[in-house]
Amino acid sequence: MNSYKITVLPGDGIGPEVVTEALKILYAAGEKFGFSIETEEALIGGAAIDAAGVPLPETTVEKCRRADAVFLGSIGGPKWENLPHHQKPEQGLLEIRKALNAFANLRPAKVWDALVSASTLKPEVVKGVDILIVRELTGGIYFGKPAGIKIRDGHKIGFNTMIYQEGEIERIAGVAFEMARLRNHRVTSVEKANVLDVSQLWREVVTRVSADYRDVELSHLYVDNAAMQLIRNPKQFDVIVTGNLFGDILSDEASMLTGSLGMLPSASVGGDVGLFEPVHGSAPDIAGKNRANPLAAIATAAMMLRYGLQENQAAAAIENAIEKVLTDGCRTADISESGATVLSTSEMGDRVAAALE
Ligand code: NAD
Repeated sequence: MNSYKITVLPGDGIGPEVVTEALKILYAAGEKFGFSIETEEALIGGAAIDAAGVPLPETTVEKCRRADAVFLGSIGGPKWENLPHHQKPEQGLLEIRKALNAFANLRPAKVWDALVSASTLKPEVVKGVDILIVRELTGGIYFGKPAGIKIRDGHKIGFNTMIYQEGEIERIAGVAFEMARLRNHRVTSVEKANVLDVSQLWREVVTRVSADYRDVELSHLYVDNAAMQLIRNPKQFDVIVTGNLFGDILSDEASMLTGSLGMLPSASVGGDVGLFEPVHGSAPDIAGKNRANPLAAIATAAMMLRYGLQENQAAAAIENAIEKVLTDGCRTADISESGATVLSTSEMGDRVAAALE
């Protein structure tokens, strides 16, 4: 029987509440699919500042490095808002991503059938959408040098550099093709090769890497067209791979196809250990009230099983269980509609666990 060590970082606000529900589902999935989950908790964010004076204690990094995967709730809150920038809870999140060398950010945009009406787009456009955006996270224009603001010829200029090394493109393309193998075997690479040299290199390298993945179909799109196609016909996409800047914009665009923050999972992978976290923050306005939607965290657990632990069957079963409770009309307050049964955080977790069985 496979046994996985998960380092759990509950964090602040609703983080601990939604993590509890996700773990409930992971244990249930383990029983059903024959693996065991061993967890070790560690501090991050405001909870770490209160207990240890820093947002990411070294012991937390060590615990994360020796795990098979890291599962994070959410961090931050008004209590720590006035601290200097480098001491804030958010710093802990940036540091743990860096410490784990996570260069690939995975952001799925899956529209659950029962929540089709939550999207601002027409039901026939979004029903069935299931996209995975693979965004390069540690390179590109956000990190390229030179960058700055200077005076040139008497005028102030601002500039950044969009730069990618071949190796950086190869490794993110590799992640995208591997992900596509776990899904519908299609990758769309997005850049701006009609204008940018860096994008020409991107296209050349992605095409070369695709030779090792003959079973995956590769297509290329310019980013302006990709932004349009995401709204026009999002169902055409399976995996989208793109650089840091384009991925930042397109992943937010794609996530809004689904229409609901409380439903969105994410992962940062590529290093030795993957970091899995819901997209939402610590929601201080509802923290401690048993009102948070745990489905983003539960869908994150499914992502961890699929992309971090290769437990595909269990991942699919969790997603089916989420779909089932939604179809049965179960809602938390944030996604409630008339006629729905409004559940608390823990009741929603119980329903998903029961649906899994
Ligand atoms: P937020 O995501 O915490 O909340 C935005 C709104 O969405 C709130 O009204 C909240 O109640 C609601 N919401 C969020 N998740 C929900 C859920 N699971 N169920 C029901 N409703 C949910 O964003 P914010 O208010 O801008 O930030 C609050 C704190 O969280 C800040 O300190 C911020 O820095 C931090 N933050 C952390 C992360 C992270 O941990 N990854 C991400 C974003 C923001």
